[in-house]
Amino acid sequence: MLFRSVYERSDRIGGLLMYGIPNMKLDKQKVVQRRLDLMAAEGIEFVINTEIGKDQAASQIGDLFDATVICTGATKPMDFVKDASGRDLKGIYFAMDFLSANTKSLLDTGHADGNYISAKDKHIIVLGGGDTGTDCVGTSLRHGCKTVNQFDVIPKPPNERAPDNPWPQWPTIYKLDYGQEEAAARFGDDPRRYRTSTFEFVGDDQGHLKGLSTIDLEWKKTATGAPFGKIPGTEKEWPADLVLLAMGFSGPEDTVLDQLGIERDTRSNARAEYGKYATNAPGIFAAGDARRGQSLVVWAIHEGRGAARECDRYLMGSTDLP
Ligand SMILES: Cc1cc2nc3c(=O)[nH]c(=O)nc-3n(C[C@H](O)[C@H](O)[C@H](O)COP(=O)(O)OP(=O)(O)OC[C@H]3O[C@@H](n4cnc5c(N)ncnc54)[C@H](O)[C@@H]3O)c2cc1C
Repeated sequence: MLFRSVYERSDRIGGLLMYGIPNMKLDKQKVVQRRLDLMAAEGIEFVINTEIGKDQAASQIGDLFDATVICTGATKPMDFVKDASGRDLKGIYFAMDFLSANTKSLLDTGHADGNYISAKDKHIIVLGGGDTGTDCVGTSLRHGCKTVNQFDVIPKPPNERAPDNPWPQWPTIYKLDYGQEEAAARFGDDPRRYRTSTFEFVGDDQGHLKGLSTIDLEWKKTATGAPFGKIPGTEKEWPADLVLLAMGFSGPEDTVLDQLGIERDTRSNARAEYGKYATNAPGIFAAGDARRGQSLVVWAIHEGRGAARECDRYLMGSTDLP
């Protein structure tokens, strides 16, 4: 019998397209679910609520199937404030806990179950100025937050390309994404504060977050060789009921890779050559964010197709897949 199965630990298939990218950016029913239904109709078996490495040993999957593709994403969050005092206060969450609970509750009950972290009437601070942070800003605004600020340690990018950033490189220039545009329309200003480093979280006597402290950074090599230093006297306090950590991701989780004995590259991703997708373990391939690190949907689609082609070649000796 031929099995073509996708195992997913979550209660819905789709990865970050389902539970990472918010619904206002990517419609789950009209776009994601529609595609999943087509795949199911084509004979793909989707097995949900099953965490490989925990509910079922990864080696068991390897034995059950002739070829396996690891597409577990790059979900380990970075935490540059882990040593800041007050980090364990109630009200500090990783961005993905905020975003995925929000989408699940929205899809399950239109938010009626209340099973999400609400930003309503709260002072929100997002740490991290990238796309995940922008999704936190957009979601907080939809909840009806009181204020929203987004801090980044880097300097504000220039309005035009810098001399060391010529075409055809990706332009590193200042731009307003949808979350900042919406925040500016509501509060009158881009919510991002650059060169801003958080060094302390402040709580009340119940252990709830009520604010945080920042200091401005100067991006100039210091005497110790660090790329930036703190500017004494620029400390500020900010009210905060909810802090969302959106500081990037450091690579795939280890369990499945360890259980299958998969080698890593220098950035801790599954080692598999681009275009071939084969890992060091026979019949086991890796694709998407698990192989290349946190990236883009177009790359995940491209690598998924490429890995399917290479599986076919491995199983059949040749392939007609593009
Ligand atoms: C907040 C956010 C917003 C983004 N917005 C955009 C955007 O607007 N445009 C864009 O192009 N890209 C965006 N991206 C990036 C994009 O979503 C990813 O690059 C893409 O989804 C990667 O696909 P993937 O299949 O490799 O991994 P993922 O989408 O991460 O899927 C991995 C899946 O594997 C499951 N899994 C992990 N471990 C196990 C296990 N042991 N057992 C079973 N299942 C497991 C996870 O639950 C998850 O469902 C965004 C990313 C984030 C975090």
